[in-house]
Amino acid sequence: MNTYQRSSALFAAAKKVIPGGVNSPVRAFKSVGGTPIFVEKAQGAYLFDADHQRYIDYIASWGPMILGHAHAPVIEAIQAQAEKGTSYGIPTALETEIAALVVQAVPNIDKVRFVNSGTEACMSAVRLARGYTGREKIIKFAGCYHGHSDAFLIQAGSGAVTFGAPNSPGVTQGTAKDTLLARYNDLASVEELFHQHADAIAAIIIEPVAGNMGCIPPAEGFLEGLRALCDQHGALLIFDEVMTGFRLALGGAQERLGIAADIVTFGKVIGGGLPVGAFAARAEIMKELAPEGPVYQAGTLSGNPLAMVAGLTTLKALQDDPEIYVRLDEKTAHLHHGMHALLESKGLPFQINRLGSMLSLHFTDQPVTDFDSAAAGNNPHFNRYFHAMLDRGVYLPPSAFESYFLNDALSYNDLAFTLEAFEEWLKTV
Ligand SMILES: *Cc1c(COP(=O)(O)O)cnc(C)c1O
Repeated sequence: MNTYQRSSALFAAAKKVIPGGVNSPVRAFKSVGGTPIFVEKAQGAYLFDADHQRYIDYIASWGPMILGHAHAPVIEAIQAQAEKGTSYGIPTALETEIAALVVQAVPNIDKVRFVNSGTEACMSAVRLARGYTGREKIIKFAGCYHGHSDAFLIQAGSGAVTFGAPNSPGVTQGTAKDTLLARYNDLASVEELFHQHADAIAAIIIEPVAGNMGCIPPAEGFLEGLRALCDQHGALLIFDEVMTGFRLALGGAQERLGIAADIVTFGKVIGGGLPVGAFAARAEIMKELAPEGPVYQAGTLSGNPLAMVAGLTTLKALQDDPEIYVRLDEKTAHLHHGMHALLESKGLPFQINRLGSMLSLHFTDQPVTDFDSAAAGNNPHFNRYFHAMLDRGVYLPPSAFESYFLNDALSYNDLAFTLEAFEEWLKTV
């Protein structure tokens, strides 16, 4: 069993000078309770905490570390670039090189703009969609996360399809009224919104495979239906591929699921562990963007050379070895089947959702297909499971609303260790 003495002391010190002791809320373990571990270093599939304990990491920094932590070519590229300076605020050839790779790898895009986070990418993509269409409203889905900018912090009241009410103080009614809410995997809820606001809707923004209410794959025909509705009403379809981009396939969910989006946003993997986001579209849409067009968007550290080499080296590794995606899928399926068998023999209610290297486990017997059904699986069982695995050296997402992200450094020994820890815990349930 692990101890958390040093982590607890570090957390107490952090809370004195950082709100809640963390720089992003889910890190505080509020959902599962207890003290977050403080990391000292990471290598390959492992994290090492301040109490010198090892964890098998199933989060991979929420997705970016798809090659594993401290992957040698990425570290070497960062070190080599750092010696040449870390920021110029002036164009570099690196930016063109990574942009060309992205445009080649991802379907339906001609140009890409780099920013510093997934939040910035989604916020800017919506501004571009509004500028391009001359319309103001957007449709988002309850339970989908597109970063923390005002327009996205809107959630449905009791699952109703209605005008969004802000779910954070500080978001104005004026902003909320332009965000319309629909239910994930419920095409009728989207049709209804188009019926009410036909010519006012600039775009639908969606996680093509949801990862922020656990992993929820799109139902058969759902994304095709959204594509058709957008075409019919002159709205743009924005795929938020901040999680799925370069993870489900080199070309992301568009490639994996065979659906074309109008604007695509990226983050996480595209920065290889440094802060990078991006948004991309066909040339006719991207030409609206400053300095070519009137839709303003800018960033002092956008295209930062350290971030660009980390991203470029990571994307090149993925491009050079397409088998990575096969390996990731096989490992995730292995984990899935192992967990399934153990849970079934125990007779506990459960749902495991998986697509590619994204997976989530909910302790419920109802299929998890949208926000409400995911919420039903967020229960005390989940919290005990999380802590039991942590104590045994397995680091899982500290909330039922987060997906696992497997990485290429995980070995079958690591998966076996994880399943043994899981079996041990199940004996105590
Ligand atoms: C993480 C995430 C974001 C936000 O990205 P940040 O880099 O945290 O700002 C946006 N959309 C999705 C789907 C995400 O998973």
